[in-house]
Amino acid sequence: MIRSLAVTEPLPEFPYHPDPVATGAVVPSPAECGCCGRARGYVYTGPVYAAEDLRGRLCPWCIANGSAAERFEAQFTEVVDDVPLDRLFAITQRTPGFNGWQQEHWMIHCGDGAAFLGSAGAAELLERPEAWASVRQELGDGLQDSWRAEQYLMASSKNGQPTAYLFQCRVCGAHLAYADAP
Ligand SMILES: [Zn+2]
Ligand SMILES: [Zn+2]
Repeated sequence: MIRSLAVTEPLPEFPYHPDPVATGAVVPSPAECGCCGRARGYVYTGPVYAAEDLRGRLCPWCIANGSAAERFEAQFTEVVDDVPLDRLFAITQRTPGFNGWQQEHWMIHCGDGAAFLGSAGAAELLERPEAWASVRQELGDGLQDSWRAEQYLMASSKNGQPTAYLFQCRVCGAHLAYADAP
């Protein structure tokens, strides 16, 4: 009897990106990782900021343990708010990022990175009033009147444009989001 030697390892845990398969940042793939050289069944599809073009070529394990970031001086997302350095590195160098229309950034709440839940549209945002309020507040600067901001958000969709990125604070549990469009 021939038995397969392939054993699927459980994916590493990412506190800031709890289900990267659900968000599409990590997909099943037979490709070999450009860092550890192993074909481990999954690759990361999100942005890689590094000198070398590594998009679609890193396994989630080399992201989780920091080896990909260290070897290629890579990071996978941006943080624009103040956050302690150890958390900054955990978010930017040991967490799978996500693909946005514009330069994406990680949301911070209660002094730490929030957990990324995926893209969201009007339907998903309306289910979480505090996420709606959060993205609405952020739009306030760009869109002068509130009517236009509401119209913009109502037109947003999970897989279209504009869209929003939904996070949940790991400390207080609040949902937060920001909007994005090409
Ligand atoms: Zn690897
Ligand atoms: Zn919070």
